[in-house]
Formats: sequence, C-alpha cells, structure tokens
Amino acid sequence: MSTRNRICVDVAIVGGGIAGLWLADLLRGRGYSTVLIERSTFGDGQTIRSQGMIHGGLKYALAGVLTGASESIAAMPARWRDCLRGSGDVDLRGVRVLSERYYLWSPNDSAVGRLGGFLASKVVRGRARRLERSEYPAAFASPDFRGVVYELDELVIDAPSLLNHLAQAQRGHTISGMVGAEHLQLRNDGSLASIRLRDCEVTAERFVLTAGAGNEALLNALAIHEPATQRRPLHQVMVRRAGLPPLYGHCVAPLTGSEPRLTVTTHTDQSGERMWYVGGQLATDGVARTDAEQARHAQAELAACLPWLDLAGAQFETLRVDRAEPQQHGGRRPDTAFVAAIGNVLACWPTKLTLAPDLGDKVLAALNCAPSHRAVTDIPDRLTHPGVAVPPWNR
Ligand SMILES: Cc1cc2nc3c(=O)[nH]c(=O)nc-3n(C[C@H](O)[C@H](O)[C@H](O)COP(=O)(O)OP(=O)(O)OC[C@H]3O[C@@H](n4cnc5c(N)ncnc54)[C@H](O)[C@@H]3O)c2cc1C
Repeated sequence: MSTRNRICVDVAIVGGGIAGLWLADLLRGRGYSTVLIERSTFGDGQTIRSQGMIHGGLKYALAGVLTGASESIAAMPARWRDCLRGSGDVDLRGVRVLSERYYLWSPNDSAVGRLGGFLASKVVRGRARRLERSEYPAAFASPDFRGVVYELDELVIDAPSLLNHLAQAQRGHTISGMVGAEHLQLRNDGSLASIRLRDCEVTAERFVLTAGAGNEALLNALAIHEPATQRRPLHQVMVRRAGLPPLYGHCVAPLTGSEPRLTVTTHTDQSGERMWYVGGQLATDGVARTDAEQARHAQAELAACLPWLDLAGAQFETLRVDRAEPQQHGGRRPDTAFVAAIGNVLACWPTKLTLAPDLGDKVLAALNCAPSHRAVTDIPDRLTHPGVAVPPWNR
C-alpha cells in the first residue's frame, strides 16, 4: 500500500447522519483532525426522514409530569438557537428554520384536561403559552375551530438543509464507503487498529461509530456485545393536497398515552407544493397496519383532529423507518444521548436529532485524547463527497 493512501487522524468517524456530521464539525473546531466515512449519502438513515423538531421535551410530559426525558432535553432548543446564530458549539448559520415555534392543539377545550393546568404551571417555566384566538397560526384560524392552541418555545429545522450545511463543512475530510467487518483491521488484543477501504487505510487515536442502525453490525464485527441496540419502528404518513396550510404541531386530544396523537410538520416538495409529514402515536401504533390501512387511518385521524379543514382529495403515502438506539430496559425510549467507550472505540447514538449538542458534550468528555491540531490533507479527491440523501417527500 502506498503511503499516499495512508490517512492518520485523531478521530475517524463512521456514519454521516446528524451524529457523525455534528461530531466531525465539533471536533475539528476543537483542533482534532477527523475523517468521516459514509456508506451512501449523508443522513441516509433516520436523519433525512426525521421531522426536524428541535424540542425541549414537553411532548414527553403530556401525562402532566416532567420526566427524566423532558428535563434533560429542556436546554436543547436554546443550544440549537445559539448554533443558528453562530455562537454555539457548531456553526449553523444559514440552516433553514421551517418554524420558530411549535404548537400543541386540542380540537376541543374539554379534552385538554389537567394538561392545561400543567402547561400553565411554574414547573413548565414559561416554555408553553396558551394563545389568544387573534394569535392562532393559519391552520387554526377558522371560526369553526373551538379548541385550544398552546405555543411551545421549540423550533423546526429543515433536515435536508441541516445535512447540506454540515456536509459542506466536511468537504475534503470525508470518505465514501461502506465499512464492513472485512475492512476492520484488528490488533492481537482485539482492539481496532485501522479501517482499510479499497486502497486507503485510516488509522486513528479514536474510532467513533455513528452509523445509526449500522452500529449493530460494526459492534458485532468488533466482538463488542454491550451496548446492544434496539430498533423502534415507525410508520409515518405523507399528505399532499394543493393549498395545505403550514402546520407544525402536536394534537393532544384525547390523551391516551405519553405520546401526542398526531405530530405534524410541513415541508415543501420539489414541485414547490407544501406537504404534511405526520408521526406521533399514529406512526408508533401504525407499524401493525398495512400501508393501505395506515393511509385510511391517517385520513380518519386528520379528519378527527382538524375537522374544520377540508382535506378532500388529499393523497396519502406511508413510509416505514426504524429508530436505532442503545437497548433500554423493556425497549423503552432512551432519555438522553448515549456514548459508550470501549477501548479506542466510542459507540454513539444521539437518540434524537434535538440531542446532538448533548451527544457532543458526552463525546468530548469520553474521548480522553488531546487534539493534535494537525490538518489532514492527504484524502484523495476521488474518495470524497458522498452527497446528501434525498428527503422522503422528494422520492
Ligand atoms: C421518522 C422519524 C422522525 C424523527 N423526528 C425527529 C424529530 O423531529 N426530532 C428529533 O429530535 N428526533 C427525531 N427523530 C430521531 C432522529 O432522527 C435520530 O435520532 C437521528 O437522526 C439519528 O441520527 P444518527 O446520525 O445516529 O443516525 P442516521 O441518521 O441513521 O445516520 C447513520 C448514517 O450512517 C451511515 N452508515 C450506516 N452504516 C454504515 C457503515 N457500515 N459504514 C459507513 N456508513 C454507514 C448511514 O448511511 C447514515 O448516513 C426521528 C426519527 C425518525 C425515524
């Protein structure tokens, strides 16, 4: 192997979703040399399919109590806003914000029940505000709407724009290639020495695994059995109809569990039309439904949650995707970002887009090696620029 294709970095990162791209940017900003290896296109797992909500966890408090999950996430919207202004851990100036606010609505007043008291309480510390009719966003501005709307201090970002921005910053520091067991060069003690991809060998002080669902196979190849991974499947729905109003909100009535009944975000497809991307309880329970059943169910749910809107002629498409996370007792939702250091390998899962800053904190704490402040210039051009994944509404 020629020395030209030997790439020596402080940190090699495998997997370029939000976790890998965020960490690459953060670590390079702190003086670490990095290389990011992506198998297909950036974000082509969960990130490009996410709804882009940068939330502070109030959606996990719908039962009327702040849980561990809702408390640890509370600081995230402010940290993302700092990044968007250029004063945070990662410079996100120029990333498209779809909505500066997120809403929580009930189609009728009575169904809000004790959640209303909770949202008005001191515990929520001003993170939610009940809106006057005159302040309602367009989707609720109908005389037929008799419910309540709360405004949450949370934002929605455009995932493709975020991925494009972060990918651009990694130009010249990325390699296109799928890392499999056959590419991992192990030392006699079983630790990872390097990754050999085609005619290129990457050696590093630390190897960071941010491959989402791909972490499982990589950890197995390294004979690392803890942490194990879990997948939580979703059956999302996309709704298209000319003239849909922008809608960013959770429908919370009636409240039957800890999850909103519907979670809606609005995106613009390649033809310039708005479409709704719908998750929440509908997507969690919907994994047991066929695509046609899920489309019919979504239609009925939207009619029940937004009865004042005419959705006649709307087209419904469904999308199945798994969330990949470290295994939790009983398959529960993890509360925070997760990093496990096993020798010179760090296995990472942000567990939510919103928790990327939390993941960054945890990786910086776990790296346990000093930055070399060395620039990496020897990545051959032909290996770089995997490109950014296409969002589901443009496929
Ligand atoms: C439908 C849906 C909606 C969501 N909405 C939200 C939301 O609104 N707000 C929120 O906070 N969170 C949301 N989430 C969760 C959030 O999207 C994920 O937690 C986050 O995107 C995970 O990022 P990641 O980088 O770990 O993984 P991924 O985005 O899955 O990225 C993994 C990357 O690794 C690459 N890869 C895999 N294997 C290999 C390999 N062997 N070699 C090289 N590369 C490899 C893949 O191609 C991919 O690019 C949502 C998730 C889903 C599924």
